[in-house]
Amino acid sequence: MNRVWSKLAAPVRLGLFLAAMMGAALAHAQSAPVRVPILVYHRFGARVTDSMTVRTAVFADQLRFLKEHHITVVPLSEVVRYFRNEAPPPPANSIVITADDGHRSVFTAMAPLVERYKIPVTLFIYPSAISNASYAMTWEQLAELKATGRFDVQSHTFWHPNFHIEKRRRSPADYRNFVSEQLVGSRKRLQDKLGGRIDMLAWPFGIYDDELINLARESGYIAGFSIERRPASGRDNVMALPRYLMTNGVQGGAFERIVEGESPNPRSRPEKNQ
Ligand SMILES: [Zn+2]
Repeated sequence: MNRVWSKLAAPVRLGLFLAAMMGAALAHAQSAPVRVPILVYHRFGARVTDSMTVRTAVFADQLRFLKEHHITVVPLSEVVRYFRNEAPPPPANSIVITADDGHRSVFTAMAPLVERYKIPVTLFIYPSAISNASYAMTWEQLAELKATGRFDVQSHTFWHPNFHIEKRRRSPADYRNFVSEQLVGSRKRLQDKLGGRIDMLAWPFGIYDDELINLARESGYIAGFSIERRPASGRDNVMALPRYLMTNGVQGGAFERIVEGESPNPRSRPEKNQ
């Protein structure tokens, strides 16, 4: 073996070595599933004015807690690559932070803290709201966040429909066309406006089923995200990875339990949210 090895040209030896290392990493990824809590925030503010608002001070405390306890905030795309067996596992004690809907407080309140703690964040955006709805960011603000290198922008469909309702009120063919337009239209608009690859999808209201997953795959998405109170793992369908809905009540011990990867109720159903 050693004689054969020594006769190989150096580049071939290097190639074989790297292939063996990659194989070991992927085998490890398959044999020891890593569980990663994925958090989803919506809005931030000085006061809690609705169920989806987290006080900015609470969010700041959470980021300080993560830093003090050496929890690594990793990019969502990295975790997806791991779940797709395309990359080695993220570091132990990893967590992912996302924010849905493009609320302007992401720009005014979240972004300064993201910059202070130098963490990666993925924003799920539905383009119809941007530079349009009074509560939403503008395209310029989104571009500014993306330019920092800390924010990835991904799809939340085009106008955030409730697919349960749309399925009831449309014919099967019309419904499929509608879903495809929502999925493809969002990717296209985000790509045109901001550039980059758009291949991750947050399901509006956390609603998904097999038909929606198939349509999302056909539309070029490689990962999807729902709302369920448990950490994501390689055993989950990568097109419906669970995320913890962050409300202002998730403080102290409740936050610590999420960070530790505990499932308060493993059989909990997807929660309705915006
Ligand atoms: Zn939403």
